[in-house]
Amino acid sequence: MEELFGYAGKILRVNLGEKNFKIENLNRDDARMYLGGSGLSAKILYTELQKGVEPLSPQNKIIFSTGPLTATAAPGSGSVNLCFKSPLTRIWGEARSGSDWGPMLRKAGYDILIIEGRAPSPVYLVIENDKVEIHDALEITGLTTSQKTSYLKQKLGKDFEIATIGPAGENKVFYSSVMFGNGSRAAGRTGAGALLGSKNLLAVAVKGNGKISIAHPQEFYSSCRESSQKLLSNPDNIGLKLNGTTGDLGKCDNAGDWPTKNWHSNSWGKGQELYDQFKKNNLVGSHGCYKGCILFCGRIAKVESGKWKTPEHEGAEYESISAFTAFIMNDDMDAAVHATYLCNEYGLDTISTGAAIAFAMECHEKGILSKSDFGGLSMDWGNMDSTIEMINKIAHREGIGGTLAEGVKKASKVIGKGSEEFAVNIKGLEGAAHDPRSGKALALTYGVGNIGMSHIHPIEGMAYDAYKVDFGLIPYGLEDPKQVDRFEETGKGKASKILHDFGIIPDAIGLCKFYIYAGLTPDDISKTLSTLTGWDIDGKELLKIGERIYNLQRMFDIREGISRKDDDIPQRVKKIPDFGKYASTPESAIQNYEAMLEEYYNARGWDLNGIPKREKLRELGLEWIKK
Ligand code: SF4
Repeated sequence: MEELFGYAGKILRVNLGEKNFKIENLNRDDARMYLGGSGLSAKILYTELQKGVEPLSPQNKIIFSTGPLTATAAPGSGSVNLCFKSPLTRIWGEARSGSDWGPMLRKAGYDILIIEGRAPSPVYLVIENDKVEIHDALEITGLTTSQKTSYLKQKLGKDFEIATIGPAGENKVFYSSVMFGNGSRAAGRTGAGALLGSKNLLAVAVKGNGKISIAHPQEFYSSCRESSQKLLSNPDNIGLKLNGTTGDLGKCDNAGDWPTKNWHSNSWGKGQELYDQFKKNNLVGSHGCYKGCILFCGRIAKVESGKWKTPEHEGAEYESISAFTAFIMNDDMDAAVHATYLCNEYGLDTISTGAAIAFAMECHEKGILSKSDFGGLSMDWGNMDSTIEMINKIAHREGIGGTLAEGVKKASKVIGKGSEEFAVNIKGLEGAAHDPRSGKALALTYGVGNIGMSHIHPIEGMAYDAYKVDFGLIPYGLEDPKQVDRFEETGKGKASKILHDFGIIPDAIGLCKFYIYAGLTPDDISKTLSTLTGWDIDGKELLKIGERIYNLQRMFDIREGISRKDDDIPQRVKKIPDFGKYASTPESAIQNYEAMLEEYYNARGWDLNGIPKREKLRELGLEWIKK
């Protein structure tokens, strides 16, 4: 058989109910059409899952996928993408994490791991090249993510890479995460942890010693070197290593890109001061989440002493810290660092957890829920004693924690009394720590995102609008962001279409998304990809593949009932902030979202209800999708 360069070439399929596994060949045509990662996973899940499958039933599947760049010398290639039907949103679910786990899966000989069925009792999976074993997990049940990781490393050997869930995943919290690294790197969004919990799979350990074959080694290594030099010579990228994403607190606050007090505002005025506190008291150093990273956005943090004493750990990045500062009006950085650490240990998505607590605080403020409803906790804004207790309650589904564990959309339906109005979510996913009132393209990223209100699936629209990043897309039709007013709405639909087609590519090829923010363009990536695989892919085709994947995931959602009505964004996020720097800037409010949406649908070749037209599906090679 002709060699498939750039791929391990195999899929490992494990059925936990039947306690067996199969090794299948990767379909060459599918690899060419969808590349890998969340692209190939979309093809598999669209084909193999029944419409309407219950997310936490044995019939749902979860895929751990890598891309062609994973475990190669390409800079930034340490990703793994998890794809499934989400218990939180009941549509396309996806989460990405960096670590050495994805590269190790490829070294073990697999591009993709598919988990099916449900084990009758807790188990963990051990993969060592072609040896695959399912073990009883009684001894790790109930442990935190770092405890499970240490235990398994001690038992199996330190060369194994471990993916685990924590107590939150075991308790099927709808936004529980799967943790990688040493329990410090999260595939956080949309509830991958609950999926594993529902399958009674507490951990996956992997080790291998294979290599990926390269079509044109000399050209490939030279392309990798060029990319690395480009990234390292860009002075802007030094900040990522020095300050990490947390260093953006001041910048985002200033730009009106920092959701504050459950989205009452988009700025607080305390961002820089909080970062200074962090730098002085909590920051220990920087860290790369996998061995080949050259950008080092990871933070090592700690709280030395006092009430929130927290051991040295990797975490405290921008999103997590924002969720436990501005979201809930807490200005004690030690407490925020502690809260994010606790979420990682329990295996909770920090964004959704912070958002659920902000929602609870607003229920308390408005008198919708009382102290006794919260099990005696005073859920006043910024109360960190109560916040920490509430994190415990959510992870263990205790009392009101059980309601909040299912996300703000569902919780607001249970609680009622007008709380639906401030349960900020899109398609059931809580919003991240970026605000479309800082740059209107983000409104579309949030509105039409295939997983819901995520800033980074597929791309942070405000990076284009508020921070003027062009991603090397101007030759492909993107209007130069420097010529664009961030508050203008016309033109953002067309721009977002191009941004989304490119923004989905890193998730399909195993590339950390920061590398496109840091300077890798479609031209750089297509060169690396072509020399690796031997396929002749140029920037234009790369964007076409992105468009195909975006439409396929959209069709997955449409099959689950999604249409234009679900692409709307919450009223609170559209209006002028109640307080803060932009409270008297009416142009920051979103004036005509429907017009932006229609411009986007037109650019995409979708009908007015947001459904891809037949001719668009045909053009993309997706005619196999049944209406
Ligand atoms: S930039 Fe950050 S997330 Fe990306 S590979 Fe490096 S450490 Fe990991």
